[in-house]
Amino acid sequence: MKNNVSMKTITFKQLQLRLLLFLFVLFTSAVFSYRHFIELPHLKQSISKLSERELDTLTYGIKSKLDLLFRVNFDYAVWTSTYEFIRTLDQEYIEENTVDNTFFSLGIDGIFYLDENLKPIFTKGFHHTKRIDLKFSFYEFDKYPVNAMIFPEPIISNGAPNKLGFINTQHGPAMFSTTQIRDSHMNGENRGYLVMIQLLEKPFTTDLSRITLTEINYQSPINNIPDSDLISWGVKPEQITISPFSYIVLEDAKGKAVSILKMKHAIGKIPNLINQQSVFFTALISVLIYLVYLVLVMTIIDPVKKLAKEIKEREGIQKFCPLNESFIVAELALVSQNVNKLMLTVQEQNKILSEQANTDPLTKILNRRGLINALEIHKKLCIRNNITFTVVMVDIDHFKAYNDALGHIQGDVALSAVADILNQECHRSTDICARYGGEEFMLLLTGISSEDLDKKLNHIIHKMQQLAIPHPDSPTADYITVSMGAVTIKPTEIVDFDIALSAVFKIADNAMYQAKHSGRNCFVVRE
Ligand code: GH3
Ligand code: MG
Ligand code: MG
Repeated sequence: MKNNVSMKTITFKQLQLRLLLFLFVLFTSAVFSYRHFIELPHLKQSISKLSERELDTLTYGIKSKLDLLFRVNFDYAVWTSTYEFIRTLDQEYIEENTVDNTFFSLGIDGIFYLDENLKPIFTKGFHHTKRIDLKFSFYEFDKYPVNAMIFPEPIISNGAPNKLGFINTQHGPAMFSTTQIRDSHMNGENRGYLVMIQLLEKPFTTDLSRITLTEINYQSPINNIPDSDLISWGVKPEQITISPFSYIVLEDAKGKAVSILKMKHAIGKIPNLINQQSVFFTALISVLIYLVYLVLVMTIIDPVKKLAKEIKEREGIQKFCPLNESFIVAELALVSQNVNKLMLTVQEQNKILSEQANTDPLTKILNRRGLINALEIHKKLCIRNNITFTVVMVDIDHFKAYNDALGHIQGDVALSAVADILNQECHRSTDICARYGGEEFMLLLTGISSEDLDKKLNHIIHKMQQLAIPHPDSPTADYITVSMGAVTIKPTEIVDFDIALSAVFKIADNAMYQAKHSGRNCFVVRE
């Protein structure tokens, strides 16, 4: 059957390399795809959430700072003594409530009483940590009209409105809280406003840092940050972009930046696609792949290669030497066992075939083909051992007549009997008896002396007489006889035997015919 499907074959080495490369690419892309499509988006979301929380905490921190100022301011503004003080301006109130220690304990840097027409009644600036007098002029509204916006709309009914925020002063940015001055019941007439100021200095950002657990500083100068990066305080940004810093603008009543806080986020950037872990993981996977590969090499690839090599080595070898059958993988052992079995069967069948090809089926001795093969071996043997080489041609006398008289079947029986007699004369392992054709036989005898040869040929004639196969139509004897022609060649002549082989047979044949002419049932020996 012809196989038309031609498949491109590759060696194990090529397969190994491709497989290794394929596995490496597969696992590496799996690791990085996981990181790119799953891990990083998650991380991005978490980082953005964390940044948002930090900003929320900052907003809350600033709000609570403003709240604290508001509470003190409100408390003072709706106190009946303050309410009275605006009308009477008594020294006792000032000495009790606006002493330096008050600034220190409340943590404020300025207290300002203004009447309902925003005319300052009493003002005092005092740096609560440095403990020095400060002069403020923010209430000069002709000069700083924007500052007129720090006052809430006064109300007549119950309550005391308040306004909170940031303001620029000559001592730097500050927080303010303004509350309408009313009596304790918050239903007295509008007496004006109480303004409290707290300068935005280092302690403010230090406190915010503690609350937010991030690093917070003032950004100065305040004008070199792009507007897109600025976040107005109290306005929640629509979208948080991941960046190392956020800039929060504290604005005055008109929306102008008073101060900018710079917050350093705990995580300010998206991690790289290739990080230490992914590299480590890839390296680990590579090592594992390599280990698995080594195991495969040891258990399968190398044994298969070795088996293929061993089978190849046995190609053309006459005698098959069995393959090694011990393999870790059962299937390989099976392959090896089966190849051994197959080769032994082939070897045995070869032997049978070769025997059959070299044997004559009737007489069971070598045929002419077997004789030629044996001659080759004999030639070498005689040259090596320097011994003589004798060829004896044997022909049955009047065999045609025998066949004619008793039939072919009886003739075959007689042929076998003669073959047996001749074969029995070949005692040595190197002696050969073959059927040369028809009723002719050939004996090959090595290292036999001429005396022994005469003896042997006489013995054959004698044996035929003893066997006495009746021949009704033989003019020579009443039993089957043979005629023989022999020739002995010396080892020196054998060297050139190849050319003389046919000549040697011819001489033996001639000798045999001479025996026939001499009356049959005899032999002729030629040197
Ligand atoms: P000679 O004494 O001169 O050898 O006479 P011959 O009759 O033996 O010689 P010839 O060559 O005329 O005849 C040989 C005969 O051998 C012819 C043939 O019938 C017979 N013969 C050859 N091969 C076989 C065989 O295989 N079986 C049988 N039964 N006879 C065979
Ligand atoms: Mg003949
Ligand atoms: Mg004959």
